[in-house]
Amino acid sequence: MKYKVNKEKCRACKMCLRSRCPAIKITDKAEINIEKCNGCGLCASLCLVEAIEEYK
Ligand code: SF4
Repeated sequence: MKYKVNKEKCRACKMCLRSRCPAIKITDKAEINIEKCNGCGLCASLCLVEAIEEYK
């Protein structure tokens, strides 16, 4: 499973960056490069507002 950011929910708190995942960058909101996501789910477990969701 891969992940994407729900931009409505994202507060740009940068908590997900603590995963050190190279697929995530934050400009105004967090963004996940789907090509680089390996589906580990660490970023989703760090997000306190559940803004990181399953990419379908
Ligand atoms: S942890 Fe969640 S709310 Fe914070 S920047 Fe990442 S996706 Fe956005």
